[in-house]
Amino acid sequence: MGEAATELVGTPWQSFVASPSKGSIHAYGMALDIGLLNEKGELVDMGLPYDSFAFYAGKNGEKQALEQGLLTEVQIENRNFLRYVMGRGGWINLPSEWWHFNAAPGDSIRAKYVQPLPLPQ
Ligand SMILES: [Zn+2]
Repeated sequence: MGEAATELVGTPWQSFVASPSKGSIHAYGMALDIGLLNEKGELVDMGLPYDSFAFYAGKNGEKQALEQGLLTEVQIENRNFLRYVMGRGGWINLPSEWWHFNAAPGDSIRAKYVQPLPLPQ
C-alpha cells in the first residue's frame, strides 16, 4: 500500500484514496469525475467542490449534512440529478464522492481488465 493510502487507513478519509495494491478504477480508464454546467457555463452548485474530503462529499453523508445545515435541498437535488442522468447510462456513483462514476462495479473491472498504468513499487 502506498504511503498516503496507508496513513488514511481507519480514518474517515480512507474511502477517498485508492490503495495502490488494488488500484483506482481511473487507472483502468473506466471512471469519470464530472460535474454539471448550467446554461451560462457555470458549475452547478453541489455544496462542495470536486475532490473534497468532507464526510458529506457523497451520498453517504448527505442526509446528516442536510440536518446540520451543511447542504441545502437544492444542492442534494443537483447531486441526485447528476446521479440520475449518469445512472441512465449505466454509470455507478461512488457513495463517498458526488463527482465520481464507474462504468461498472469496481470489483468486476479489476477481475476482468488489466490495469494499464504501472503500480508504484
Ligand atoms: Zn474519481
